[in-house]
Amino acid sequence: MPYRTIIEPFRIHTVEPIDFPDAAQRRGALERAGYNLFELHADEVIIDLLTDSGTGAMSTAQWAGMMRGDESYAGSRSFYRFRDTVSAITGLSQVIPTHQGRAAERILFQTAIEPGDVVPNNTHFDTTRANVEFQGAEARDLVTSEAKDHGSSYPFKGNMDTERLRHTIAEVGRDRIPLVMLTVTNNSGGGQPVSLANMREVRTICDEHDIPFFLDACRFAENAWFIKSREEGQADRSPRDIATEMFSLVDGATMSAKKDGMSNIGGFLAMNDARLAEACRNLLILTEGFPTYGGLAGYDLEAVAQGLEEALDPEYLRYRTRSTAYLADKVDRAGIPIIKPPGGHAVYLDAAAMLPHIPRSQFPAQALACALYLEGGVRGVEIGSVMFGKRLEDGTEVPGPNELVRLAVPRRTYTQSHIDYVGEVLIAVAERADELSGLRLTYQAPWLRHFTARFEPAA
Ligand SMILES: *Cc1c(COP(=O)(O)O)cnc(C)c1O
Repeated sequence: MPYRTIIEPFRIHTVEPIDFPDAAQRRGALERAGYNLFELHADEVIIDLLTDSGTGAMSTAQWAGMMRGDESYAGSRSFYRFRDTVSAITGLSQVIPTHQGRAAERILFQTAIEPGDVVPNNTHFDTTRANVEFQGAEARDLVTSEAKDHGSSYPFKGNMDTERLRHTIAEVGRDRIPLVMLTVTNNSGGGQPVSLANMREVRTICDEHDIPFFLDACRFAENAWFIKSREEGQADRSPRDIATEMFSLVDGATMSAKKDGMSNIGGFLAMNDARLAEACRNLLILTEGFPTYGGLAGYDLEAVAQGLEEALDPEYLRYRTRSTAYLADKVDRAGIPIIKPPGGHAVYLDAAAMLPHIPRSQFPAQALACALYLEGGVRGVEIGSVMFGKRLEDGTEVPGPNELVRLAVPRRTYTQSHIDYVGEVLIAVAERADELSGLRLTYQAPWLRHFTARFEPAA
């Protein structure tokens, strides 16, 4: 099209009202929540960018599919539609539905991993890492060193450092590496994509050592779009064709359908190894359900099958990546440092660079997330020292690797004017950045402290 504006490729069919708590109500809510945005009630939030997981809007075809859902306990029509869609896109023959991505991870790892094993990945997502570690194994992140330079515009910052992969295999030994994973896009690393060239290299290394290769495929469609738009020689291919090649390079995949399944719940585990799949199905029956529903309703299977197709629509992907980049441009123009180039699903603000006067021990990223909420009711999530730091026995804080605030964009949910509003809130906060003060941690749980920690203003 000759026009500059990339419009939403949909009309709005059903609306969900937004609540507008005023400044005093927001202050009261934040104090009650102990300065932890996870403790807010959703109706205290104006624009919710906490996560893109399961928070998107479904299409008319998905809702229609839900009405066709076949709730038969065994052999439901909806399962076969789901299985055939997943197999057609991925080329993987064994398809096991699960209620979320982490259930697929738990079943795969419990079946394939032994204590003392090492699982290489570009960057493990937090549930993936936790499920590897729960089996007594080590989750090792081998992302390319290009990812560390937040300001550089390197196009594939999700790539695995294949030299470090070779080194890890040599050091640990093939027998202690049950599988290699790549997360597409690399969520914890800023939603950055992995190139086809990198996947092929990882495939070659896995073949040399006869190691299975799995994708954590949650945002496979966004990754395919980045390959199309950034990788040499890929511009003329359809996202679906690229996605199918991505999956042809692996032996299996775990998937959260709450991301590029465009659904509010669901996931799957898929692979080619029928014997491994049988062992996984037996575990599935134990904890999730019969293999033709895997803890989902028949109507969920319909919504996911339809959603997987819609996620690969080029008009959708163009709009999706553009709407994230549009927010990133606004933030960038406000002088707020971000991870560049923007990823597919979120913009990551660099709070350490924006608030250099707040010591790491006073959680600058948490302080920034709270300021965005107080200013305009915008909820992001801290990915900094609250999430990844820890407190030693003597009370000193070991900071996490970064101080980021992630603004995740739910799929097909907010319009351009909502994002313009978020930009204005960010600019207002940036203008008085030097007045913001840090937070003191007053309560933490023994693990995953970010969900329930409580704070008070340090000043
Ligand atoms: C969300 C996510 C998961 C886990 O999926 P859930 O559906 O939340 O259980 C795993 N890996 C990545 C990269 C994710 O983004």
